[in-house]
Amino acid sequence: MAIRKIITLADSVLYRESEKVDKFNSELRDLIRDMFDTMYDESGVGLAAVQIGVLKRVIIIDLEHSGFIKGVFINPEVVFTSSEMQFGEEGCLSVPGVTANLSRPKHIRVAYQNMFGERLEIEGSDLLARALLHEIDHINGKVFVDQLEFEERQKVENDIQEVKKGRRPEHFRKPNYR
Ligand SMILES: [Zn+2]
Repeated sequence: MAIRKIITLADSVLYRESEKVDKFNSELRDLIRDMFDTMYDESGVGLAAVQIGVLKRVIIIDLEHSGFIKGVFINPEVVFTSSEMQFGEEGCLSVPGVTANLSRPKHIRVAYQNMFGERLEIEGSDLLARALLHEIDHINGKVFVDQLEFEERQKVENDIQEVKKGRRPEHFRKPNYR
């Protein structure tokens, strides 16, 4: 078990695209275990490998507390998004203390591989869809605060600048996932 350091907006690695996983071995399993240890240590509900500085297309999610699922998704690809949208609050362990609202598709379907390399698909709605899209953005080098509409971004702009300088935002907020 190892808790790894979470990288923030202050580190440009966060904006790099992660590479496809092609070896489903013990190294991958160790990475996944460390990701869960790190996420739980920070009370997070999702984490992408890039957030601990590993540029591999691996994401984890644990939304069991909200009535959804816990899972590991390797090489995930969004294969369907609904035109119906949802608008809600998000936070990110790489942008500590900052929350903001943004639009995401309400229903999605994602193709992925499990930790044994088997190909599977998952359908997600509401918070599960939001979490999957947020984490898949990470492995494509995207962070949620850069996808906000202008007014939402303005509300948190000062706090984002603080995080980019490696500081704690003045108005530290944690997301309220519903
Ligand atoms: Zn995030």
